[in-house]
Amino acid sequence: MILVLKNNCGAEEIGLVKGKAEELNLQAEIINGGSRTLLLLRGGDYSFDAREFLTLPCVERVVQLDRGAGLVSRETTPQPTVIRIDELSIGGGDVVVIAGPCAVESPEQTLAIAEVVRKGGAKIFRAGAFKPRTSPYSFQGLGEQGLKILADVRSETGLKIVTEAMDEASLGLVEKYADIIQIGSRNMQNYSLLQVAGRTGKPILLKRGMAATIDEWLMAAEYILNEGQDQVILCERGVRTFSDHSRFTLDLGAVPAVKELSHLPVIVDPSHGTGYRGRVPAMARAAIAAGADGLMIEVHNHPDEALSDGVQSLDPVGFTNLMHELRRLAEALEIRI
Ligand code: PEP
Ligand code: MN
Repeated sequence: MILVLKNNCGAEEIGLVKGKAEELNLQAEIINGGSRTLLLLRGGDYSFDAREFLTLPCVERVVQLDRGAGLVSRETTPQPTVIRIDELSIGGGDVVVIAGPCAVESPEQTLAIAEVVRKGGAKIFRAGAFKPRTSPYSFQGLGEQGLKILADVRSETGLKIVTEAMDEASLGLVEKYADIIQIGSRNMQNYSLLQVAGRTGKPILLKRGMAATIDEWLMAAEYILNEGQDQVILCERGVRTFSDHSRFTLDLGAVPAVKELSHLPVIVDPSHGTGYRGRVPAMARAAIAAGADGLMIEVHNHPDEALSDGVQSLDPVGFTNLMHELRRLAEALEIRI
């Protein structure tokens, strides 16, 4: 961290800044940067609020260079983390496709879609039993009944199951039925939920908050890792920007950025990221080319009748075609899908 000091700071005022640094266990080194005096601060555990320095009379600006090497950081763990569920691995070099409807609607709908995505080459089935809907009047999911349907899908198809936990009550149930626990965009900063999820021992798929910076997203993952759970998959699902041509702005630049900063696998959700099924294939291809470890894609057997997110769901033909395309792309990139 660098503090830029105001012009004409006296020795006494600089002493106050150094005293504050000492209190926080930071080593301070004065650098004379031309017309400005800079104070380089090293060490500390970064648990304090760097803006505290701005309350001192001679500090003009605080430049925070990093947050220190957390458990999510590549500095702490240089090798990529590989999530293993039986014979399946995520983050080990192969691209893993997670696919399924937005929500579990019925046993028939769920199983029919599961068969389509399994045949297409997906390894993990997604479908929400607890749905965080914008309107309280929209379909809210089947709850535990939905989880039971997902457990049946696993025994019938062999697909692994990922589904969302929305709060501590649903987390207990999701933990019982699912292979991977999804924490949704709206809950990315629900720190107490992240802590409880981290203690379940099950891998966690952590979606990026729709207004979260990469730093905030990684710090949310840090809450889970801090509970002793290092099996975390990060999922880029689009953020809010001024662009209104799509539902969200899928931030594919986040993939290489997060990979530089963290050892955790990163997957991409082009369905929520674009909001329109016609745009999903292009962004799915782009995500793989950008180095994503996997994709999460919404698929429905009758998208126009879906109880949620039908507009962004591929139909069976669309999904099958996309998988063909992705396999050809993977071949060119010398990766497996
Ligand atoms: C979902 O995956 O169904 C979902 C609700 O996603 P998000 O949390 O990214 O909106
Ligand atoms: Mn959805």
